[in-house]
Amino acid sequence: MGSHKTAMEYEDFISSIDSFEENYKEEINKNFYFGFPLTPVLTAEHNLLSGQAESIAYFSMEFGLAPSIYNSFQFKKPIGAKNQFDTHQVFSNDWLRDYLFKVHTDKMLDIPIYGGGLGVLAGDAIKSSADLGFPFAGIGILWNKGYFKQNFWYKHGQIPEELMWDPLTYPGLVALKRIVTIETKDGPLHLRLWKYYVYSYDKARVCPLILLDSNLPQNNDFFKKLTDQLYRSDDVRWKIYQRAILGIGGMKALEALGYAIDYYHLNEGHAAFAIVERYVKLEDKAEMEDYHNRFVYTCHTPVAAGHDRFNIDDVKGVLKDEYADASQLLGKETTDSEQINLTHMCLSFCNKVNAVAQKHGEIMRMQFPQFSSKIKAITNGVHTHTWVSESFAQLFDRYVDMFGDWRKLPENLAGVRQLKTNQEFRRNIFEAHQINKHNLIEILKPWQLREDILTIGWARRIAGYKRPALIFQNIQRILHLAYDIGPLQIILAGKAHPNDDIGSAHIEKILEHIDQLNNHKDFIKVLILENYDTYFGKLLTNSVDVWLNNPLPPFEASGTSGMKAILNGVLELTTLDGWVVEAKGDDLGWIFGYEHSGTDIGSEKVLRLDEDSEALYNTLEKVIKLYYETYKDGILDQRSLWIDKMIHCVERSAFFNTQRMMREYKEKMWS
Ligand SMILES: *Cc1c(COP(=O)(O)O)cnc(C)c1O
Repeated sequence: MGSHKTAMEYEDFISSIDSFEENYKEEINKNFYFGFPLTPVLTAEHNLLSGQAESIAYFSMEFGLAPSIYNSFQFKKPIGAKNQFDTHQVFSNDWLRDYLFKVHTDKMLDIPIYGGGLGVLAGDAIKSSADLGFPFAGIGILWNKGYFKQNFWYKHGQIPEELMWDPLTYPGLVALKRIVTIETKDGPLHLRLWKYYVYSYDKARVCPLILLDSNLPQNNDFFKKLTDQLYRSDDVRWKIYQRAILGIGGMKALEALGYAIDYYHLNEGHAAFAIVERYVKLEDKAEMEDYHNRFVYTCHTPVAAGHDRFNIDDVKGVLKDEYADASQLLGKETTDSEQINLTHMCLSFCNKVNAVAQKHGEIMRMQFPQFSSKIKAITNGVHTHTWVSESFAQLFDRYVDMFGDWRKLPENLAGVRQLKTNQEFRRNIFEAHQINKHNLIEILKPWQLREDILTIGWARRIAGYKRPALIFQNIQRILHLAYDIGPLQIILAGKAHPNDDIGSAHIEKILEHIDQLNNHKDFIKVLILENYDTYFGKLLTNSVDVWLNNPLPPFEASGTSGMKAILNGVLELTTLDGWVVEAKGDDLGWIFGYEHSGTDIGSEKVLRLDEDSEALYNTLEKVIKLYYETYKDGILDQRSLWIDKMIHCVERSAFFNTQRMMREYKEKMWS
């Protein structure tokens, strides 16, 4: 009987897929789904449809899944050229090499539906949900042209280019027959649904990710382009439509698929229209009471520009009257306001809301005092399996007595503390790191980096408050450090939002600084890599010696790239902000610069570049000294404090992972 049931479900499953015979019959059969086992897919579908266990729908504008570095699907058809993205240019102070070479990476393009840390967190959250076996469905958007492709032009900075990729031949992505429709003031907006299954680390469980797509022949030309580009922000109508697709379209998708959902998790205010859709659809509005506990909201930024507000007339120009009316009812900050504020809508409607680190919780309570009693803080994490390097995974496996099944239980990594006095382990952890550093140097071979030179990494979104050019604030100081204390290699990467002129100006400035260092490349080498993505995110966070993190406190809500670094024994050189506040006493590296306290948040425009760069140089002097005391001329002092710090890093990564984070969500938010 059991097998009969499975067979039925398989038939249902296949018949839900659009053009199965033409597009997917090579890749999907009763046993396999793009080379992975199919059974977990049917089980996950069954669980979501039956509604037997408490289930969660997680809405996010972006998902950074990083399939090129983790759980890559097998594919019988050749991967189309559009889905490969294998060369990157470099801008360095060794410009002749930049001119002659490109970085070659033998990899497919990651599904380009994310812009930065928010999306990577959403990707890590869904992966950990699969690891933990939660009945959990992600809701996102299929961005037909991704975010953008980045080009550097000297004297111009960043030149964004349209990114082209092909969803139809992307491994693991399937188009469904199902279409959902949103009625709008411009007529019906049709949305295709796509599915992508996110597998657990052991491939025994999955969570589906549902992606909405407006690029359909039955839509008008304007509608077809709505799901082209993530965070296209030059047009208000466009922004409202994109948010309506995620919130309203997402709710309609869950209904069309027949998923029985208990909790709707809104990752950022972008998805707030999901609440509006629920309200409009209820015959008896009194039932809305029940949903205060069933919608939960995670806020990711203390920066004001990160919160969406729309003029009521603009919303009325897009949404049907009953939706626009409900949006006013739920989203006006005051009765006489002319704006709908999506952050306010989430904060006032949801009984449970959370900040993404303890410090961010404090800041959020200051920003929204009227909601302070319901603001919890659940600190972000990273997905251990995605971000751990092979050499560190092997190291952990070698000490199985200490780490046990750390894949299943990443908290076991805390056991590293007991190896602190083990001289063999101290040598091995440094050697595991050197393997990663060697790998980086191989990938960047033409630039002739060296394994015995202190290497500093900085990579993340280029945004003002993250202060990407802080280390170049005083070129004389950094030159002095490199010549008099010890040589340096600095590697940077990051994209600025295409409409963010200040961000682009930062890139221009960095390129100029790099150029100024042209005559000094024997003592300081600086490279900035084009098109930062999850591939480079993993490569850099596990291979440099020191991860530089210098946001202006208190504007970094959490930050996660440093968590990837500590998992791989890479030390932190950081200001005291976001997650770092919780690791202040743990000696993960060095903390410098301005510290926020008190009840005044301050301004993210007052960047304190002079004071904080001074503090950075003073601290860097100590970092360089300790590095060359630890490792010089190929000789390692394995008793060095440097190795203590590496061990502290791994120890704390036992906490800063998304498995712990998802468990906290389950306990504190979905109940
Ligand atoms: C981890 C990651 C981020 C987040 O970096 P932060 O330091 O938290 O800003 C951004 N982009 C990519 C590609 C990442 O992998």
